[in-house]
Amino acid sequence: MKPILLFDIDGTLLHVKKNFLHEIIHQILTEFKLSNVSLKNRSFAGRTDRDIFSELIKEYSHVRDLYHSVSSRYINLMTDNLSDDDVDMIDGVPEVIDYARQQNLAIGLCTGNFREVAYAKVGAIGLQNTFQFGGFGCDHHDRNHLPGLASEEFKEKFKQPAKSEQFIVIGDTPNDIRCAHHFGAKAVAVTTGGFKQNQLRDQNPDLILDSMSSPEKWLPKLTRASQT
Ligand SMILES: [Mg+2]
Repeated sequence: MKPILLFDIDGTLLHVKKNFLHEIIHQILTEFKLSNVSLKNRSFAGRTDRDIFSELIKEYSHVRDLYHSVSSRYINLMTDNLSDDDVDMIDGVPEVIDYARQQNLAIGLCTGNFREVAYAKVGAIGLQNTFQFGGFGCDHHDRNHLPGLASEEFKEKFKQPAKSEQFIVIGDTPNDIRCAHHFGAKAVAVTTGGFKQNQLRDQNPDLILDSMSSPEKWLPKLTRASQT
């Protein structure tokens, strides 16, 4: 059975420029008068959007439907405004995508982003028609459940069975590695998002890469293993 690749987005495929993101968040906080929300000393890496937004508005739980209103506004602002100028693609990404296509591997997403935002982000680096299925941060607050959701979507879309050990989750945070193992998939950790090799090694990924470039050197090792 062929391996199936699941890519995280932020820190793995691309970086959204900080100024752009800050402007969007600032606009939302102003519009909804969420003056008590501070973004200082918060870490969003490896978390789902659902988890992040729920936490941000926690002390406004008395406001009806606030989560839905705020997340909808965020999705609209991101999908309406994000352009290729606001993102930097990470080195090696076109190579690994081309290589996976040549090998006829299925390519999906496993990301904490809301679905619409995920596709806006990959669209901004020219990969709008690349990822046909995925697990997204709108569907579960806990990242550990996202590979399973991606697997369900894969099966539905391609009308094919898929085993968890066929999946290879590629991501930049300890949470990406944890969710891969939770599901029974392989984990490839990349250091392009800010976590260093020693921080990622603690979670025992199957492979750690400083760059996804030259995929012909690293992907066959994992794909051979998953075909056995
Ligand atoms: Mg990431």
